[in-house]
Amino acid sequence: MLSYQHAYHAGNFADIHKHLTLHAVIDHLLRKDSPITFIDTHAGRGVYPLTAEETARLHEYREGVLLLWEARRKLDEEPLLAGWLAALAEAQPRAGRLSHYPGSPWWMGRRLRPRDRQLLFELHPGEHGHLTGQAPAEGVRAIHGDGLKGLVERLPVATPRLCVLIDPSYERKAEYSEVAEALLATLRKARHAVVLVWYPLLPAGRHHELLEAVKAGGIRKVWRSELRQRQPGQEARGMFGSGMLVVNPPWGLDARLADAMARVVPLLGDTADYRGDWWVGE
Ligand code: SAM
Repeated sequence: MLSYQHAYHAGNFADIHKHLTLHAVIDHLLRKDSPITFIDTHAGRGVYPLTAEETARLHEYREGVLLLWEARRKLDEEPLLAGWLAALAEAQPRAGRLSHYPGSPWWMGRRLRPRDRQLLFELHPGEHGHLTGQAPAEGVRAIHGDGLKGLVERLPVATPRLCVLIDPSYERKAEYSEVAEALLATLRKARHAVVLVWYPLLPAGRHHELLEAVKAGGIRKVWRSELRQRQPGQEARGMFGSGMLVVNPPWGLDARLADAMARVVPLLGDTADYRGDWWVGE
């Protein structure tokens, strides 16, 4: 059963972590000419109006993107954040006013070149409907189906390079191991793929299952970063942090994100912190 809808959480601190990392990776990949296939296995709706009933109910964006937006002039001298915030400004229908938060399909595809391709998988019929309702862009296909199966079935891709985002809702416990299996299968078929995997930090700590399976699977060059909004135990329930793995990260990604996060973390409050390290080295 699919009950998760990202609209309830759009623009929260985890989205900042995920989409800033995605933005930094893509920015680096687009420095070279050779074509890329981008695959988003769990695409969601695409773009989230902040006044939508679901988003306005929890307004998590107020403790996320809104804090960065309001501080944007002071963040201008940090190059990665400046680029991210300039892109966010482009996504707004009315200049100077934050009314929409763009999801991963937008961050991934906004600079798509005619030689690149983008595949967006979404299993929820309503969320898929939102995606296909947006103006179709050249080279982009929205597919109603299972993203992990769809990813592995489509490999190898026709382009020399591949960039994948795996961003499930982890509603089912089995998703942690399914993600690890799909990641290993992807790297077997596309050894040089750059793959980003998002995971939540929850009191149950199930993300360790995913991390351990990745290590045991023998993949090399897996970089990990975690952004905690509060420390575990500060609240008995709920997500306290956001985690990302990047397999085959572009050179310098760790330093670029560390510089940007050093400016983001103080905005998120006293208990926030950010760490990056190699989960599996070369
Ligand atoms: N990646 C989006 C972003 O960053 O804007 C958010 C995605 S949200 C965390 C997870 C999405 O995965 C939900 O829209 C959910 O309906 C969808 N989903 C759940 N199971 C799926 C599956 N097996 N294949 C594809 N999509 C799935």
